[in-house]
Amino acid sequence: MATLIDGKAISKLVREEVARGVQAFKAQYSRVPGLHVVLVGEDPASTVYVRNKEKAAAEVGIAGKVHRLPASTSEEALLGLVRELNQSGEVDGILVQFPVPNGIRQQKVVAVTAPSKDVDGLHPESIGALWGGMAGLVPCTPRGCMRLLAEVGAKLDGAKAVVVGRSNLVGKPMAGLLLAANATVTLAHSKTQDLQGVCREADVLVAAVGRAKMITGSWIKPGAIVIDVGMNRDEAGKLCGDVDFESAAAVASAITPVPGGVGPMTIAMLLENTLLAARARLTRASRTLIS
Ligand code: NAP
Repeated sequence: MATLIDGKAISKLVREEVARGVQAFKAQYSRVPGLHVVLVGEDPASTVYVRNKEKAAAEVGIAGKVHRLPASTSEEALLGLVRELNQSGEVDGILVQFPVPNGIRQQKVVAVTAPSKDVDGLHPESIGALWGGMAGLVPCTPRGCMRLLAEVGAKLDGAKAVVVGRSNLVGKPMAGLLLAANATVTLAHSKTQDLQGVCREADVLVAAVGRAKMITGSWIKPGAIVIDVGMNRDEAGKLCGDVDFESAAAVASAITPVPGGVGPMTIAMLLENTLLAARARLTRASRTLIS
């Protein structure tokens, strides 16, 4: 039976580290890092996510502020707010909660956000930095996956890694991070031929698809490490991942559960990204933020 990778416990560790980092930052700069989240409209899931981010920020001592705008907000008004936040000395991290209502172009919002405050890691400059091995902010979920792999002692150097799903938010940056860690990476997607065979080659398998229990034990190489990013509902309405946990856990050496695996890491890494952004902005450090 596989080792359970406990994202809940590891995320708690990260939040404790961030809380200590915030105290050290405060001692040095006489202020705490600031995270500003912008929520446009009242999408129920987004409202919950934003509330959780606000609460998590407060718990580690980050000054969190949520800008709640009506769904009727124009693109120009939203971009205006983001530009104001770019200029504000109190703001270290900016996160516009996606999806935004129709009529607002997500790409436009991303492009206007200052790369130094882009804690979602979606700005073209952030993406370029990741693939170019330069300093930059990296999307929270893949960073969380890398931390889980580190905690479980995964040997990535020379490992065969397969990432299923190529979204800008998860799959692509995950592949970039694994490559930076010297894994040999395959980035699979809906057009991949013989996906099952491709997955079975993987020493490290990351599933970021959005299809309940699509990857079963027979797709997994014995001893592989499996990271399940998926958040889906099964036939019974229960939260589940992209991986069929029972059959996969019988074959893998280590596996994340859903819930309690990758999910809790995402907010923890957002807090860490905010601290890193604050430090980098104030120290103008040239050191890499990719870890
Ligand atoms: P997304 O933007 O919808 O991307 C899904 C990817 O999966 C696409 O690249 C798609 O391929 C690929 N795909 C779809 N069906 C496939 C199939 N049958 N075989 C192989 N590949 C297939 O989703 P996302 O935003 O990356 O999210 C993926 C999952 O992770 C979702 O369940 C989401 O809820 C979850 N998630 C969790 C967290 C967390 O904090 N735990 C954070 C973000 C996302 P094409 O590109 O070819 O269409």
